[in-house]
Amino acid sequence: MRIAVGGIHTECSTYSPVLMQIEDFYVMRGDDLTEHEYFSFLQDFEAEIVPLMHARAVPGGPVSRDTYDALKTEFLERLETAKPFDAVYLAMHGAMNVDGMFDAEGDWISAVRAAVGPDMLIAVSYDLHGNVSQRIVDQIDIFAAYRTAPHIDVAETMTASFAMLTRALKTGWRPGVMRVAVPHLLPGERSSTEDEPAKSLYAALPDLESADVWRTDLMIGYVWADEPRATACAVVTATNRTAAADAASMIANRFWNARDEFRFGPTTGPLNEMLDIAAQTATKPVILADSGDNPTGGGVGDRADVLSSLIDRNWQNALIAGITDRPAVDACFDAGIGATLPLTIGASLDPAGGRVTCQVKICSLHPGNTTAERQAVVQIDGTTVVLAARRRPYHNISDFDGLGLDPKSFGLLVVKSGYLSPDLALIAAPNLMALTDGVVNQDIARLVNINRAEGTLPFEQRDSFAPTPQASARFEN
Ligand SMILES: [Zn+2]
Repeated sequence: MRIAVGGIHTECSTYSPVLMQIEDFYVMRGDDLTEHEYFSFLQDFEAEIVPLMHARAVPGGPVSRDTYDALKTEFLERLETAKPFDAVYLAMHGAMNVDGMFDAEGDWISAVRAAVGPDMLIAVSYDLHGNVSQRIVDQIDIFAAYRTAPHIDVAETMTASFAMLTRALKTGWRPGVMRVAVPHLLPGERSSTEDEPAKSLYAALPDLESADVWRTDLMIGYVWADEPRATACAVVTATNRTAAADAASMIANRFWNARDEFRFGPTTGPLNEMLDIAAQTATKPVILADSGDNPTGGGVGDRADVLSSLIDRNWQNALIAGITDRPAVDACFDAGIGATLPLTIGASLDPAGGRVTCQVKICSLHPGNTTAERQAVVQIDGTTVVLAARRRPYHNISDFDGLGLDPKSFGLLVVKSGYLSPDLALIAAPNLMALTDGVVNQDIARLVNINRAEGTLPFEQRDSFAPTPQASARFEN
């Protein structure tokens, strides 16, 4: 069994004006791919792995056309060079948007299908926030997606997809994929699997699996993409068409029936209300999620609205991690540790974001390996702010260790996040979520909606739903 492995993995808000460029992608090729921890699950299989290329970027705006074309061209060249092999496994996210193109994964996966021909098995793994089109389903044989958000089952999901692929190769079974679209889009922040009803909906998925039904998935989809394919859906991999349609319809109906029960997990509200609550809270650290500007959801990450509010309130003992602002970081490196200078922070990438000019003291500088990795920690009255040269989250304790900061020592920690990462959820006392502005703001019913399918909640009114199972064009049995 020689199996070619690769893929492309990112999530793009079509409301962001900041296009992703080639330098935003972390690209693994050849042995770098097989030796990377992300693909270490492959060592559990007896298959011979043929590493192609895997490109991954922090979520953001649409991928520039040049960048996408360059990555796709290289991928297809590597695919051609790697022949012969017996099957293909693609590790995808599923919510990529390319500037001027809809259904980018449909384009990518269709190109792979065209290159390998109609007989070869293609397996994919997805983030449950991917938008799955029928075009994609028509090109693949095996599908698996995360069943947790926050995503703590990444390796399990990739393993599940790959295991189905090796099973099919060994047994000669040809599974097929069934999809049932559910016209209801939700933000990830109201569908965390830590909270109901998502918790129970996802916990029930494995019970629908059987000898015929290999894998059952529920895709929440990605709401900040104004694309025709944007939708929730049930996706099932099975060796029997009727069993697949039944399972997918069941998942779709359960999701539809729970549609009014999805809520934000933590205490959530406008920024000022959340700051009022934080001010009256004796425990620490209160962790406030600046949800409209969350880079891991596609937000720009350069907004200074919360900083501005903390300055107005003369807040003491707060840490903001972080704000992306390369010019501000450059100015800090020019001035040096200990210097005090006037600095403008915010709106360095998206002019729509808030901007603050204030006196800062430079506490520490962190050069990283490249200019893009530089970070500066500055003090503004009672607030410590981490400035980053590139777009990035601060969701893991290790992000703070490297800066010599202990998030637990602050009364208020502000992060650009939606639902908290497992690391931060453990120390939050408590967690609050501010409904802030930004390109992934949570007021989704008011998002501009031009391209989504007619009758999609919450953009249009809809009272009824009947599952329409759509089999992959490749489904044989
Ligand atoms: Zn996700």
